[in-house]
Amino acid sequence: MQKVELTDSEWKEKLSQDEYDVLRKAGTEPPFTGKYVHVKDNGVYACAGCGAELFRSDTKYDSGTGWPSFWEPINADAVELHRDWSMLVPRTEVRCASCGGHLGHVFGDGPQPTGQRYCMNSCALSLNKDAAS
Ligand code: FE
Repeated sequence: MQKVELTDSEWKEKLSQDEYDVLRKAGTEPPFTGKYVHVKDNGVYACAGCGAELFRSDTKYDSGTGWPSFWEPINADAVELHRDWSMLVPRTEVRCASCGGHLGHVFGDGPQPTGQRYCMNSCALSLNKDAAS
């Protein structure tokens, strides 16, 4: 896995304010505000920070939560999971394995076949649409 390492000021330069707040400061965009909540286009969702491929559109589903949700990453090495103790109930944070950017959280109430709900921030993602679609 290729590692992308930038300084804080380099990330600030590269990212929009919203992207920086989520990817580098583990912020959360308000529900139903992100650009990918209702998107059903075919393609691959990449990290908005470093471009690493993270999720396929055919694993995206409507979770009703207001954030783009997937039941599986594109491969097991694309994301890293970290225990997040910032709220009373511990959660599992999902980061881009390539640049360490915060993407969102994963929960165990997703659909089959995995039962996982990768609850992502739209502004941490960038959809590369299939050329054919
Ligand atoms: Fe990344």
